[in-house]
Amino acid sequence: MSANLKQDKRACRITKVTTYVVGMRWRNCVFAQIETDEGIRGIGEGTLEYQPQAVAAAIDQLAVRYAVGRSVFGVEKLWHDVLRNEFMHSPIINSAAAALEMAMWDVAGKALGRPVYEMLGGKVHDVLPAYANAWYGVGKTPAEIGAAAKAAAAKGYRGLKFDPFEDAGREPDKASIRRAAAIVEAVRAGVGPDVDLMIDAHGRFSPGAAIAVARDLEPYDLFWFEEPCDPENAASLAAVGRNIKSRLATGERCTSRAAMVNLLETHEVDVLQPDIIHVGGILESKKIAAMADAYFAPVSFHNPFGPVATAAAVQLDACTTNFFMQESFCEYDVPYRFDLLEHAPKPVNGTYIVPDRPGLGAGEFRPEVAKEYPFDPKAFLPLFTDRWSSRF
Ligand SMILES: [Mg+2]
Repeated sequence: MSANLKQDKRACRITKVTTYVVGMRWRNCVFAQIETDEGIRGIGEGTLEYQPQAVAAAIDQLAVRYAVGRSVFGVEKLWHDVLRNEFMHSPIINSAAAALEMAMWDVAGKALGRPVYEMLGGKVHDVLPAYANAWYGVGKTPAEIGAAAKAAAAKGYRGLKFDPFEDAGREPDKASIRRAAAIVEAVRAGVGPDVDLMIDAHGRFSPGAAIAVARDLEPYDLFWFEEPCDPENAASLAAVGRNIKSRLATGERCTSRAAMVNLLETHEVDVLQPDIIHVGGILESKKIAAMADAYFAPVSFHNPFGPVATAAAVQLDACTTNFFMQESFCEYDVPYRFDLLEHAPKPVNGTYIVPDRPGLGAGEFRPEVAKEYPFDPKAFLPLFTDRWSSRF
């Protein structure tokens, strides 16, 4: 490293990384705060389904190996170094790297006085339509869930997503499909014809069962059918895509560019759903969105976690041409998600307004709030049990 670069005041070198695990009802969220030699702090999120302590440990490890001493303007090299040198590709490593990468973008933007989206090409969307998830935890019967849908739609969301399948497995019996169809029917009746309905199967079906279920749900005009089968076998997923009328959505559990290509190459994936954390951060997500665009596929970033991940999604959405709808749990989550950040994102009339504040646009992270809600060993959401959604 040249002496000039070492002394470059604009480098903003990372001096310290602190991780926080915050119990948030059905999951623990993981945050990494970085401090720099310029006195600017940044926040990132590395939440991964049900492995918070593993990710927190990985962040601590990666901080020593790659982050401390690095300029926050070196995100591309950070990710490259992590991917090559950690050797085992793993969602735990990706999520840890994403937490650091996101925090680096936050500091970089704060140092320049610019939002992250202005460092990624600039804004192409001012207002971001959102769809609600987790709105159906309160309901038990189809009538109750239909009423909950009506209330959620009244908040202005473009769409609502839900999983009506409860404990159904790979080959559900007719009665359980009928119960799911009754829920979907009640939701459609509750929201009227103009709200997009998205069904998430969380990978539970065989291709044959998925096609049969999708046909039973056709009368309710679904916008997309998400993860009808697990995502690893792209050809099996494509077999479903070829045989259903609604769009096929997937991608939240794919953690590499190569896995995304496998999905896109089937030409059956209509909506790609990268998770910004699971793929390794903001820049990698931007690249994956561009790959999807080459297949004329829109992206809808997966976003069920904490407020920092949502802030990152808002930044990416703002500068991504093929963005069209943002997943949102905000209004159906623990209230303190809005206290963890100085400016936590929150939907307004079912949309996110793109902020013009620097970095992630979230201001300062509040460690004192994080410490009030420590790691919760019971925060877990097994998706194949009766009434699991009541834990939302
Ligand atoms: Mg999903």
